[in-house]
Amino acid sequence: HGNLSLMLQAFPFGQKRHLLLVQDITDLQKADAMRRDFVANVSHEMRTPITVLMGFLETVHSLDLKKEQQDQYFDMMMAQAQRMKSLVEDLLTLANLESNALPAANTVVKVETLMALLKNDAEALSQGKHALNFDLESPQNLMGDEREILSAFSNLVSNAIRYTPDVGAIRVEWRVNDQGQGEFLVTDSGPGIASEHLSRLTERFYRVDRSRSRDTGGTGLGLAIVKHIANRHQAQLLIESTPGKGSQFMLRFPKERIAA
Ligand code: ADP
Repeated sequence: HGNLSLMLQAFPFGQKRHLLLVQDITDLQKADAMRRDFVANVSHEMRTPITVLMGFLETVHSLDLKKEQQDQYFDMMMAQAQRMKSLVEDLLTLANLESNALPAANTVVKVETLMALLKNDAEALSQGKHALNFDLESPQNLMGDEREILSAFSNLVSNAIRYTPDVGAIRVEWRVNDQGQGEFLVTDSGPGIASEHLSRLTERFYRVDRSRSRDTGGTGLGLAIVKHIANRHQAQLLIESTPGKGSQFMLRFPKERIAA
């Protein structure tokens, strides 16, 4: 960037446009490299479960297994198929969000209703293993797209559950702060995230621990989806974390999006 402005100064007035074109090409090249990375990532993410699935099929086909053993293989195959399904669903969600040129809907989203849905899903996912706490501190609601907001909230809650060991605690809160901004907070007592990773967490397929993410059914796209939805609602995604202690993810909505 510094180089470019130096060059701008060195060139006579009429040639500025030419220099801007040079930068445009760099941007295009960057976009192209990102697209190639993305396709490579998607291919890799798809190929792994397909390869595992084929291995299981081969085994069931070639070995004379007892019914019980066969059932075990079928369960493992189902898990791999489920993984591909989640990946395709998250890719579609992301593609829809990215291609949507329209601003997010602006209808009243009842936070109490969302909290009840989130609580139900969280209990099913945790299976009684975590201490779950849902707290509606403020009665105000949110203006936005209900499906998108539920998807963003739900991604944060399921991450907290998936990354927190069984004995851990998870707290989910909704409140309106002194400045009238709406805050949705998810706090967990999980492993935490080292600071050098924080700024990259919302990149597609960025994971701190690849195998842990896969073990817990992660696609690596959840926070990229959350970030997109936040942007579409002029909300900020704020992440605080202490390794060994836990993490807090917050979505902060502007006061214009708070409804009575
Ligand atoms: P994934 O499907 O891998 O969970 P996400 O985009 O949702 O993908 O999250 C990206 C990465 O951020 C995860 O792989 C994990 O390393 C880290 N992460 C997200 N939420 C938490 C959390 N609550 N505690 C610890 N690490 C987390």
